[in-house]
Amino acid sequence: MKTRYLFVVGGVMSGIGKGITTSSIARILKDRGLTVAPVKIDPYINVDAGTMNPTEHGEVFVTDDGFETDQDIGNYERFLDERLSGTHSITTGQVYSAVIQRERNLEYDGRCVEAVPDIPNEVIRRLNEVAKQHDADVVLVEIGGTVGEYQNSLYLETARMLRQLHPGHVAVALVSYLPVPRSIGEMKTKPTQQAVRTLQGAGLQPDVIIARSPAMIDAPRRKKIALFCNVRPEHVIAAPDLDQIYAVPQTFADQRLGEHITKLLGIRGKQYARPRGGLSPEWKKLLNQISRAEKPLKIGMVGKYFTTGGFVLKDAYISVIEAVKHATWAAGRRPELVWVDAELLKSAAATKRALKDVSGIVVPGGFGDRGIEGKIQAIRYARETKKPFLGLCYGMQLAVVEYARHVAGLSGAHTSEIAADTAHPVIDILPEQKDLLRQKKLGASMRLGAWPCAVIPGTVTAKAYGKSLSGRRHVVHERHRHRYELNDVYRQQLEESGLVISGINPERNLVEIIELPRHVHPFFIGTQFHPEFRSSPVRPHPLFRAFIQKTIRKN
Ligand code: GLN
Repeated sequence: MKTRYLFVVGGVMSGIGKGITTSSIARILKDRGLTVAPVKIDPYINVDAGTMNPTEHGEVFVTDDGFETDQDIGNYERFLDERLSGTHSITTGQVYSAVIQRERNLEYDGRCVEAVPDIPNEVIRRLNEVAKQHDADVVLVEIGGTVGEYQNSLYLETARMLRQLHPGHVAVALVSYLPVPRSIGEMKTKPTQQAVRTLQGAGLQPDVIIARSPAMIDAPRRKKIALFCNVRPEHVIAAPDLDQIYAVPQTFADQRLGEHITKLLGIRGKQYARPRGGLSPEWKKLLNQISRAEKPLKIGMVGKYFTTGGFVLKDAYISVIEAVKHATWAAGRRPELVWVDAELLKSAAATKRALKDVSGIVVPGGFGDRGIEGKIQAIRYARETKKPFLGLCYGMQLAVVEYARHVAGLSGAHTSEIAADTAHPVIDILPEQKDLLRQKKLGASMRLGAWPCAVIPGTVTAKAYGKSLSGRRHVVHERHRHRYELNDVYRQQLEESGLVISGINPERNLVEIIELPRHVHPFFIGTQFHPEFRSSPVRPHPLFRAFIQKTIRKN
């Protein structure tokens, strides 16, 4: 077997950055010349992340092939600067459905189908498929949740079985947390020791322990963990809190984690063993760029998935946030995101107060009616004050509603998602979506994944995409996730009142991009798709780049 497997599991508590850790390990292995394929296993029963509320679960990430996945797939793509398919996202729902379907088809030859070994076997089958797809040297498998939970135990069993089947080809990294309680002022290792015991109870010994902590782990504690947890001291990797997630690969490379992992997995070959100064030139350049960007640039983000109980949560917009950051660093500035809760924008005066200090305004995607009039206020403010504006999916649809109401004279215009009986449904449901909604077929049924969009020459959008446009028809491929679209019935009327349609789906003639002409507004673009899903720190998305460049030039 050529492919090696590295399982990444979490100890002590959730939310300590397992996804960033896995992405960073993937990056350092890639930078050593290895072909890596990261996979996330989510222990929930949902077949995919598409049906979950973003305040609860964070962003739903969409792949080119139209899967609605966990946001960690987005982290992997950004750190690797590669596009991954839906097969990189595995859930309990998927695994059980497949096993049950196979049982119904009598494919288990009449025997009793059991949680063990049949569930781990199905997971292993899926992991092998990913390995084959990529001809991967290393498949990284991030197991969601924390060790000791009932939910993810079958995935620990998967790791154990795979290690038993292929000794020397499978390693386990435990991402653990070492708290520094304020009253003691000292880093504590006991929770990590206990997490390791729990892992051992599942038949797994960690090979590497990633010591997440507010501070750098010191030598005595490193030794202590090594002694009590059966790992070598150099395999205890410090992972202190950093301001910058993209600096995590550097921290790991400095501690030679890539070398340790290749050795643990028995990967030989001079090309991989040789330390190449840690990281690739492109990643070093990125870190340089970030550290040099000092002058702040304020970008207003108008959304609604911010609060859960007493906590503020921005996970729902993670790809948008990252895309803004990528483009801002590339322009030599330090991104400063200003969170504006759409529900608070109840009047033009309140909107002005909230947005007057930002240089550009982004209205990201969303669903339903909460906060919608506030978003429309923000869009109107951006249009009238000529502040650069980028509307994404719902943000684009609401820009059309705003324009229809206040410029095209279609008073009461709305999207039929919110007002089924509106006099002017300028945004309306896609024909094929009607039956799906009626039959309550709501999972994985939106218009999903990458679709071609022909960009109209001479527009602000075409200039923004620049060299990224390909072919005679200036096509780009961007990722979608929606049920509604600009209503063709109103197209001509909107165009006649000055709205420019700058991107069209060539097969179905759907409006995918709108803008205002250059002489009316310096940068006002709305996209039916989500360009944020295709931005990486080393290759910022051209629309975000153009938007940020314009905000800088305006200041
Ligand atoms: N709610 C809108 C639709 O379904 C927009 C979706 C989105 O912003 N992702 O079309």
